Amino acid sequence: MELNARIPGGSLAQKWDRHRFEMKLVSPANKRKYEIIVVGSGLAGASAAATLSELGYHVTCFCYQDSPRRAHSIAAQGGINAAKNYQNDGDSVHRLFYDTIKGGDFRAREANVYRLAQNSLSIIDQAVAQGVPFAREYGGLLSNRSFGGAQVSRTFYARGQTGQQLLLGAYQQLEKEIAKGGVTMIPRCDMLDLVVVDGKARGIVVRDEITGEVRSYAADAVILATGGYGNVFYLSTNARGCNATAIWRAYKRGAAFGNPCFTQIHPTCIPVSGEHQSKLTLMSESLRNDGRVWVPKAKGETRAPKDIPEDERDYFLERKYPSFGNLSPRDIASRAAKEVCDEGRGVGEGGLGVYLDFAAAIKRQSEAKIRERYGNLFEMYERITAENPYTTPMRIYPAVHYTMGGLWVDYNLMSTIPGLHVAGEANFSDHGANRLGASALMQGLSDGYFILPYTIGDYLAGAKLAPITTDAPEFRAVEAEVNQRTNHLLGLKGKRTVASFHRELGHVMWDHCGMARNESGLKKALQRLPELREEFWQNVIVPGTGQQLNQSLENALRVADFLELGELMCVDALHRTESCGGHFREESQTPDGEAMRDDANFTYVAAWEYAGEGRAPVLNKEPLQFENVQLSQRSYK
Ligand SMILES: Cc1cc2nc3c(=O)[nH]c(=O)nc-3n(C[C@H](O)[C@H](O)[C@H](O)COP(=O)(O)OP(=O)(O)OC[C@H]3O[C@@H](n4cnc5c(N)ncnc54)[C@H](O)[C@@H]3O)c2cc1C
Repeated sequence: MELNARIPGGSLAQKWDRHRFEMKLVSPANKRKYEIIVVGSGLAGASAAATLSELGYHVTCFCYQDSPRRAHSIAAQGGINAAKNYQNDGDSVHRLFYDTIKGGDFRAREANVYRLAQNSLSIIDQAVAQGVPFAREYGGLLSNRSFGGAQVSRTFYARGQTGQQLLLGAYQQLEKEIAKGGVTMIPRCDMLDLVVVDGKARGIVVRDEITGEVRSYAADAVILATGGYGNVFYLSTNARGCNATAIWRAYKRGAAFGNPCFTQIHPTCIPVSGEHQSKLTLMSESLRNDGRVWVPKAKGETRAPKDIPEDERDYFLERKYPSFGNLSPRDIASRAAKEVCDEGRGVGEGGLGVYLDFAAAIKRQSEAKIRERYGNLFEMYERITAENPYTTPMRIYPAVHYTMGGLWVDYNLMSTIPGLHVAGEANFSDHGANRLGASALMQGLSDGYFILPYTIGDYLAGAKLAPITTDAPEFRAVEAEVNQRTNHLLGLKGKRTVASFHRELGHVMWDHCGMARNESGLKKALQRLPELREEFWQNVIVPGTGQQLNQSLENALRVADFLELGELMCVDALHRTESCGGHFREESQTPDGEAMRDDANFTYVAAWEYAGEGRAPVLNKEPLQFENVQLSQRSYK
């Protein structure tokens, strides 16, 4: 497999400008002749679909929810980064670039990250022009707050509903284009496979969730903007429907999968309360602007938090990382929380929790001020836990939140299958081994509003595409495979539910490929996962038929893919014997327990290639070159 990142020449600051000039254009009269499929209508998909349609292409956009407005992006709480430097606190495009490269533990491409920082400026302008109600200062200027891994305030926010407000902005653009006829929106459809003709992505096969009909769509280019795969862990902060099917099927058709084991564990989530749970709830990182994280100094402490005096508390993030304190990056804060809980100093039932305490902030700024800033998050916390966070510290614990891994893409966001582009959380992205808070929304919108509209044109202008319809034999063959897989699942009539398989997969992944990983655990997982998969294909029960709304079937198809992806994640985690960012290999740590990279051997993107059923995936390496930042041991001390 050839991995050509197609990074343009020139200085870092000029690459994107230069590339935009050098890329081929499609004339306005020709754009309407092209058909583009966009799978996904979250921030990445909706922004791409709307913008491409505004340019004149015809777009067909798919989502599995009943409305594009329900994409998981709506859940994003805390904010979106941009190097506007409105606070005059020392921010710049270069600083955002540097923070992101360092935050990702030097495992992301310099050129992509720099472009992301450049585009961040336009994203805010675009969103403001759409009417996105970002928080403002008393005088009317846009307000900012701080997020982890940064010492400047560059996060724009709309209370704790930034994703929702940004998505409404993108959605209204999309609706406008739907009304004009430029976008055909097809909700309640699951993409179940990709169709490749003459080596190029030419369409998809979907299942209509309402009628069960399996049908095909042909196009000149396909964009996958299908979100992240954190639900491979069963419990995560992701919406229940988030899945890997689209990218996993594309992987099996020839798209390389980049860094699959790079998962983000978010430090501030409501702790797991029992086996009955089907999802976890995030408490936004923005809370760490004012909340202080602590545990009792003594093991096995039973007193209520208010009865524990100051000198018997360990504000462990402030103690260990005095420069960044409670705003240390997520991977570091998560591991620190795990460490104190492993020592027996965790709080709450089972000891898997730490306090996030607002008492000092309330005393300093008043309850009204804190309510104004985080009111909806506090309310959500109280509804779930029945505890009042204005008077009792929140209890939080790390949980799976985001996947930095995804389909490998070049600088144009094109995968290793020509014509197949990947945007948003679905691609292996710009976040290296750890994403900084408030940068996923930035990346999804940068991809959709400001990158794909250029790079798709370049692809279409250069590709020699023969006309195609869904009558082509390649579509028939993929449809047959999809029907066969679906019917097989329905016909098994086994004894074990889909949820039970998914839960066990989640346990295996969390125990062995979660916050800390080691060789022996990963090998155990690699032994158990094929057994679990085999049992799934013999003993799963999927009630109902394929010709109706059947959520068990939808879930079964997703879990079948998760079972395979989980194995690839473990293979990737096992081969990367260094620690970096969210990938913490216990064998590779500094004397004070921090992640220790092995730059001599692992300064590359691991791009895995599908080698066929029963064959080990093939590792391809894209070397990462750092010409503008110096590789160094990350320090937030
Ligand atoms: C609770 C929470 C809070 C967050 N807060 C922040 C934050 O404050 N700031 C920040 O930067 N990031 C945040 N993130 C991360 C961020 O929200 C996501 O990374 C981002 O929204 C993903 O956008 P996306 O467009 O790539 O995918 P999504 O929004 O997940 O959209 C995926 C789309 O693909 C469709 N789809 C998926 N599979 C298929 C299929 N097989 N067939 C058809 N359609 C399919 C879905 O219907 C959907 O339309 C948060 C994440 C969570 C979980």
